Amino acid sequence: MNLKGVNVSANRLQEKTWSDVAAYLESDNRIILPVGSTEQHGVFSPLGTDTYVALTLSEDSSEKTGVFMAPPLWFGWSPHHLVRPGTISIRAEVLIEVLFDMIQSLSAHGFKRFCVVNGHRIVNIAWMQIAAERAQRELKVKVVLFDPAYMSKEIHPRLGFGPIGHAEDIETSHMMYRYPDFIDLGKAVDNPHRERLLYHLDPNDPRDTLCYVPATREDLARTLAATGDCIGGSPSNASTEKGKAYHDHLVARLVEVLAWLKNQ
Ligand SMILES: [Zn+2]
Repeated sequence: MNLKGVNVSANRLQEKTWSDVAAYLESDNRIILPVGSTEQHGVFSPLGTDTYVALTLSEDSSEKTGVFMAPPLWFGWSPHHLVRPGTISIRAEVLIEVLFDMIQSLSAHGFKRFCVVNGHRIVNIAWMQIAAERAQRELKVKVVLFDPAYMSKEIHPRLGFGPIGHAEDIETSHMMYRYPDFIDLGKAVDNPHRERLLYHLDPNDPRDTLCYVPATREDLARTLAATGDCIGGSPSNASTEKGKAYHDHLVARLVEVLAWLKNQ
């Protein structure tokens, strides 16, 4: 498929030979690991949305810095999204082990500084933290987790994004900018957030408590019954312009993190 406006990074591990990697390791030991999910994102956005988000941020920052990037991990922990077909969920303990094994394999040949780019938001973070902590302790490497929600807090008010949900205006804008062929916004039905008294799950919201308990498949079945789809938020507020500003901001932050990582 010919995707409009998408750069093809020259630094993708799967397109290198082992001797290319050996040569890279003589002068650098950083690597980017994009991690996403394959899970339903409504009837207007593809199952791979979270992975594409991680992939495009990784590719553009890799292009700007020359840092190599690993093939994306297309699977995350998504049991609640099994309510709709096409979703592939791996167990949390499997995600921890896969991420650890990726880092272990790469570290055996000299990669020592890892930047994990998380496209699956808070749902993946707990398991990634466990893998990262174990890798740092057992393998003597440095691992940082780059999460778009946390790294874009400062620009949310300016862009007028609503709260973080699922397939909402934020990731829909991002997809519209980077993968416009994959989005069919005309099919989107909003499911605006209802105000909650105590429970806020959004790093942009000062009331976010991080007392996070994931949604269940039953929760999403109720959403499906009430709204006809399984999303949370207002994709109708999405725009390519917002997606560009969001993407450019995140790539700049990721470039900063990669520069910082070089000296860790
Ligand atoms: Zn998503």
